[in-house]
Amino acid sequence: MAAPLAPEAPRPDPVGPDPTALDVAAVVSRSLRDIPDFPVPGVLFKDITPLLADPRAFGIVVADLAGRHAGAIDLVAGIEARGFVLGAALAHAMGVGFIPVRKAGKLPGRTASISYDLEYGSATIEVHAEDIADGARVLLVDDVLATGGTALAAWDLLTSVGADVVAFETIIELSALGGRARLGDRRTVALLTV
Ligand code: AMP
Repeated sequence: MAAPLAPEAPRPDPVGPDPTALDVAAVVSRSLRDIPDFPVPGVLFKDITPLLADPRAFGIVVADLAGRHAGAIDLVAGIEARGFVLGAALAHAMGVGFIPVRKAGKLPGRTASISYDLEYGSATIEVHAEDIADGARVLLVDDVLATGGTALAAWDLLTSVGADVVAFETIIELSALGGRARLGDRRTVALLTV
């Protein structure tokens, strides 16, 4: 039998009775869950699942991104895996297509790929290049900007297959890890910076 779950502290309502009264950073901040030492000791994991589980908070986040890029993009690209959830909802809301940026070996068709360094070792990400028209204006999204290695690689991968990447949008930026500087002059927007 499964062990009983330890009770969690009560969470604040991330939106409150008047959703128009809150800015998006406050909604994100109130609907995040910090998980210490996950997936390895020393990492404070920023868990967006409570935000996704609250339709008002999720809707406010999607509306914020959609408003900033309305009429200015042809595709949304999301980074595996939580970037898929945000990205697919956003693409649908904006009436544009969605491109998954996947870890190596997951996409079945002909892929373009790029490898980049991690703290220990390296990683490879891939896209189906033929789903991206030459010159397509692409908005890249993910849940968390940490060191910036993943977003930078995804941006450069999309560019290498002919996309015009207009911005990287993330729900949370961990400013101490320097991801924004690593992205250089690539337009980077974070809903909440901590
Ligand atoms: P990085 O390449 O270092 O910017 O790491 C970004 C990727 O790792 C994103 O796809 C995030 O989903 C994930 N990630 C890194 N750090 C965290 C964290 N503290 N909490 C949640 N996800 C993280």
